[in-house]
Order: sequence, then C-alpha cells, then structure tokens
Amino acid sequence: MQGNDKLERLKEIDREYRLLSHTAAILHWDQETYMPEAAVLNRADQLSLLSGLMHDRITQPEIGETLTAIGVSLDADPTPRIPDTFQGIERAFLRELARQYRRNSKIPRRVVTELAKQTAIGQRVWAEARKAADFSKFSGQLSIILALVRDVSSCLGYEDHPYDPLLDEFEPWMKTADVEEVFSGLRQGLKQLLDKIRGSRKKVDTDFLNRKYGIDKQRTFGIKVLESLGYDFTRGRLDESAHPFTTTLGSSDVRITTRYDSRYFPTAIFGTIHECGHGLYELGFGKAVQGTLLADGASLGIHESQSRLMENLIGRSYPFWSHYYPQLKALFPESLGDVDLRRFYEGINHVSPSFIRVEADEVTYNLHILLRFGLEKQLIGEDLAVNDLPAAWNAQMKELLGLEPRNDTQGVLQDIHWSGGMVGYFPTYSLGNLYAAQFFNTLIRDIPDWRNQIGRGRFQTILNWLRENIHKHARIYSARELCARVTGEPLNPRYLLDYLAEKFGEIYGF
Ligand code: ZN
Repeated sequence: MQGNDKLERLKEIDREYRLLSHTAAILHWDQETYMPEAAVLNRADQLSLLSGLMHDRITQPEIGETLTAIGVSLDADPTPRIPDTFQGIERAFLRELARQYRRNSKIPRRVVTELAKQTAIGQRVWAEARKAADFSKFSGQLSIILALVRDVSSCLGYEDHPYDPLLDEFEPWMKTADVEEVFSGLRQGLKQLLDKIRGSRKKVDTDFLNRKYGIDKQRTFGIKVLESLGYDFTRGRLDESAHPFTTTLGSSDVRITTRYDSRYFPTAIFGTIHECGHGLYELGFGKAVQGTLLADGASLGIHESQSRLMENLIGRSYPFWSHYYPQLKALFPESLGDVDLRRFYEGINHVSPSFIRVEADEVTYNLHILLRFGLEKQLIGEDLAVNDLPAAWNAQMKELLGLEPRNDTQGVLQDIHWSGGMVGYFPTYSLGNLYAAQFFNTLIRDIPDWRNQIGRGRFQTILNWLRENIHKHARIYSARELCARVTGEPLNPRYLLDYLAEKFGEIYGF
C-alpha cells in the first residue's frame, strides 16, 4: 500500500468504529428514554457484544502496523510523533488515532471485561447502599473497583501520579499537577467570595420556585427557548430521562433529554439549556471532521464549557430573563403573578452551601468538585483507605462548605461516578466552568452589544461566534491549544472568579 492508501485504510477502520459507537449510542438512548423496564438484561447483552466488537476494532494490530509504516512513532511521550508530511486535519487525525490505539491496546481485554462486570455490579450495590444511607454496604465493592482502576492506571503507565492516566481519559493531554495549580487559585478565590456572600445582609426569596408549574407548559416553554438558542429539531430531539444527557447518533442526529419537576421550576429549564449547549457543540462540528474520531469535544472540560456557558453565563443572566420572564409569567400567572423580574432573577441565582452537588449554585458548585478531586486522587494514590472515606468526605464538607452531612446519602454516596469506575471525571465539571468564563470573556469583547442581543432573544451572532471559534474545530486542537487560540492565554481561574464576584456582588450588595 502507498502512504495515501494506508491513511485511507486507517480512516476506513475509524469510520466503522464510529458507526459501531453510534449504534451503541442508539441502544443507550433508548434504554434511558423508552425501553421497557424488563428489557434491561436483553439490552446488557446487546451492549456488551457491541462494546467487545468496538474494543477489537480499535485495538486491531493493523492500526499499529499501519501507523508505524507511515512513520508515526507510538513510543514517543506524551504525544505520538507524527512525520511533518502530515499537516492540519490529517495530523490531528493521526495524533488522536495513535492516542486511542495506544491507550486501548495497553489495557488487557481481561481488565476491560472485569471492570465492565464489576462496575455493573457496583452501580446496583451503590444504589442499594444509597437507599439505606449506609456506606459500609458499598465499601467492599468500591475497593474491588478501585483496585481495577489502579490496574488500568499502571497498565497505561505514568511518571508523576497514578491519577494522570485516568484524568487523561476525560481531559486528554492534561496532567494532575496542571489541575492542582488551577484549582488552588480557584479554591482560595471561592472561599473569599463565599465569605462575603455569607456576610451579606441581603435576603433572597426562593419560595416561589417551589410553587406549582404544570409540566406541559414547562415543556412548551423549554422547546421555545431551545429553538431560539439555535437547537435544530430537524437534526435532534428532546425527550425525558431520569438523568439528563446529550447523545450523538450521527452527524445529523444529536439528541438531548431533560427531566421535569412540577414543584421546582429550575430543574427542567436549566437542565434543558445545559444539554442544549452540549448539543449545539456536537451539531456545530465542521464538515471536514464529521464521521471521524475528530468529531468529538476537544475534551470533557471543553464540552462542559459549552453547556455551562449556555446554562449559566447566558441562561441565568439578567438580560436573558428580561426577555423571557414576561412570557414565563404569562404561562404561570398563578405561581408568578406576584413575583417581579428582579425577585425572579435573584431567586434563580440564590447562593447557599448545600449537601448535593447537582443542586448547587454557581459559586458553591466548584467547591463540591474540589472535594471530590482531592479525595479520588488520594484513593488512587492509596493515601486514603476506602473505609476512611466517609469521615474524610465529611471533614472536607465542613472545611469547604461549613456543613456536616447527617448521613452517607447526603454525603459520600450521592454520586454514581465511582461505582461506575469513573475516576478522573469530576475535575472536568469545574474545568468546564473555568473554560466557559474565559471563553465568554473573549466573546463579549468581540460582541460588545451582547446584553442587548440576549435581551431581545437574539442568539444568532453569539451562536455564530461559538461555531466559528469553538464548535467547528471539534477535536482538531487539544483543549490547551483551543484555549490559547480563542483567548490568547492558558486556562486562568481569574475569569471565573471575576465573573462570579461581579454577578454576585451585584445581587448580594458588596
Ligand atoms: Zn454537562
């Protein structure tokens, strides 16, 4: 085969891998939305067969042989070395293919299947322990899972910290030490900000959020917002699931889900806008990368930046609600008749330390992440025993948020991630918030009348900016490269801290 044919062959293998993964995504989507309850074992068999086929495809020796034949050095660290004859998209394609091949073939099939099995058990055991609010019912299974995750880390290899190769799965090319550095600045700034908010005399009313909000009307409102934000219903759908998510089933099929609570208005609308941000990113990938492994977020942190930018920086802003609040009030006159725009805006932005991460406000949310990042790093480095985890969790809660969980359900058992073997995932949520604020800072410099546009319900210029600067590049650049290209500097916690201080200083009067 000539060099060009070899590259084409690699593209063909990748294309088939993508088709398999989109097929698996359809099965996952169906499982979370419409599948009958009793079908769970049928579905597990189908997904397990597909994941085996996918693993075989992405680790087939032909990939390694062909990469080597065209001069890609798989041994080079941390980035595979690629001959200069390959530039642009082809170079990025080879970099990502080599990365994926290298990662997957270092982990023995035995570890992959054992982890799949133990995490399937783990999620069930976790759900039972959570119901019983008793960590001791989960600790045995968690130890088994963590041992396997440590196996994965040592198979992949690391120089500095066993957490590095785990983080790299979700946030490619980023090191634990980089996250630590960014987070330490964030931690200090957030604690100061929270102290100021706590010291404020301002009382924010949130009672009206818990009045009655009919679900049909919430759905109608959500769809209207999605349409004006630019979500294309000819290439997507909105459905319901217990845990909202976005999934890509093909370049013209990016679906989102949400959930409704008739007694708590913010759940559905902010969940919907959040997933819309993820969806717009996937729908905005450039033509040149569609159907290839580059049709993906640059990293999970970058992906999350697109959802947080929509949900928080736009969706929780005053201009946004100055446009939408009259319409919302007209839909729910009994619940909002006596609430003016200002009171509504303050209510949806109320800051108060709470136990549960997914219900946290914009300020305290990141403290929940700092807590988890610190603990999972210690667990993987074997600096913390599983049995000591609940006590360590509670001590950190006290230290960071000033709260003491009354039981394990309110504390260490609240998230599903560890039972699913997902260690290294949590930091990407805060990285998303950080990237979002930093990108937004550039966006508003480029679009000076952004407030005016949002206030009139016009999002096209903002969407065009996101598409041109972020979406179309998909995974061509690493997160670090993308951040530098868009904002002219590396990730810097100052942007999030400045945004939060300005917004909440205005609400809380300091
Ligand atoms: Zn998200």
